[in-house]
Amino acid sequence: VKIDLGLTFDNSYAENLEGFYASCPGAKAPSAELVKLNTSLASSIGLSNANPAQLAEVFSGSQAPIGASPLAQVYAGHQFGGFSPQLGDGRALLLGEVLDKDGKRVDIQLKGSGRTPFSRGGDGKAVLGAVLREYILSEAMYALNIPTTRALAVVTTGEQIMRTQLLPGAVLTRVASSHIRVGTFQFFSSRGEQDKVKQLADYAIERHYPELKSSQQPYLDFLSAVCDKQAELVARWLLVGFVHGVMNTDNMTISGETIDYGPCAFMDDYDPKAVFSSIDRDGRYAYNNQPVLAQWNLARLAETLLPLISDDAEEAVAKATEAVTQFWDVYQGYWLAGMRGKLGISIEEEGDLALCEQLLESMSGQEVDFSQLFRQLANDLETSSLESTSCQSDKLFNDAAKFIQWKKLWMARLCRDDQAREKQLSETPSQEKRSLPDRVAMMNAVNPVYIPRNHQVEHAIEAAEQRADYQPFENLLRVLENPYTPQAGAEEYAKAAPESFGSYTTFCGT
Ligand code: AMP
Ligand code: MG
Ligand code: MG
Repeated sequence: VKIDLGLTFDNSYAENLEGFYASCPGAKAPSAELVKLNTSLASSIGLSNANPAQLAEVFSGSQAPIGASPLAQVYAGHQFGGFSPQLGDGRALLLGEVLDKDGKRVDIQLKGSGRTPFSRGGDGKAVLGAVLREYILSEAMYALNIPTTRALAVVTTGEQIMRTQLLPGAVLTRVASSHIRVGTFQFFSSRGEQDKVKQLADYAIERHYPELKSSQQPYLDFLSAVCDKQAELVARWLLVGFVHGVMNTDNMTISGETIDYGPCAFMDDYDPKAVFSSIDRDGRYAYNNQPVLAQWNLARLAETLLPLISDDAEEAVAKATEAVTQFWDVYQGYWLAGMRGKLGISIEEEGDLALCEQLLESMSGQEVDFSQLFRQLANDLETSSLESTSCQSDKLFNDAAKFIQWKKLWMARLCRDDQAREKQLSETPSQEKRSLPDRVAMMNAVNPVYIPRNHQVEHAIEAAEQRADYQPFENLLRVLENPYTPQAGAEEYAKAAPESFGSYTTFCGT
């Protein structure tokens, strides 16, 4: 008997994009066990009337549910700057698409469900540690209001997978607004299949940017829209100290969601050069390089769209170049708006970019915890202790001299912000006066107390991997669900890793 998850599948990718994928079944797991279901996400996509055994069957890839049409998508991609013309879902399967509670179309995809025609030398499998890691990190991003794929379920397969050692196998089920990548466009473009590029662009516009259908220049506007979405996304990454780690063009979505939680990590101490991935030896995808590399990726997308932008090659290049060039200003606008929020500034001023850059400069090389500092600034503001010798923010720095100078600029800036507010108030009396508690609340609403600290993530993984103890994983998830609110008994989760944890290295393809 076929399993009915109660989901209403509507598989537009399978139906409209023949030639863009290979239909493919999942591998049968020897003994699938559901170890985690994201119940709120499950109910938001209408997943109902299935028991844990059925969910384990479906979310291990062992059996496709009613309505699914499992497929592996093909794509290409620039990996660390070098072009790979043939990639694709080597260990992922798109089960299909469903409409969520709000009528939004989402992909349901398995990761680690066995080999596909695009697996090359890989085994198509995933290990439990990496699956739990993606679960934690992607759900943390969601709670931080950052566009992301989400984690729906974790199933262990009962298999041992060979990596550097034998490790328990698992499958992650993720939900995304789609899995169309820059690399999907590159696959067809690099083969000279311009009709397919157009077909894909039309599909992507219909699915993600339907407002562009009536545009005079839909493909140029599509490029600009993707640039805008990615500019906002990368700005938000930087504002919380996130390092993606593998920003290859096959890992950049057209929808603007964060995808591919392999070697990513949040930094504790601020370091513009922060890199965690074992294979990123040159720091190509270091924290501060992310906007530049996003722009580089978008230039690769632009190249695939040139013939659609204009029949006149020169004109196409000029227009596409302008769109990609604009990325930088757009990015900076998002980043600066975010920094104003983090610093409690509500009305723009000319010198704000310099003020923010000066803060980062004062933090550089100081081993100052990025998340704690912004939280502490609000605390010190609230207790009027910014200027006192007992200022807690100062204590986060090895040498606070530069930071102390910067605080004077910031305090003066907040006074001018108050004056600007007063003026606005007198012009539009309906607005309420901003008080100190408002400012503190404004800062605390965007500066997380809790991020997925690397040592906590590792602790949770270790307990699950070694003792099948999922309690640390569940505890960490619960704290990260409300990142902006201090929670009783959760003080440990706000702390940086102890010295003994050492430097942190992450790995791809586990
Ligand atoms: P990633 O670095 O995770 O973006 O993966 C790059 C490419 O390698 C993608 O096409 C993946 O599907 C593929 N890949 C990664 N791990 C495996 C694996 N264990 N088996 C097969 N393909 C894999
Ligand atoms: Mg990938
Ligand atoms: Mg420190």
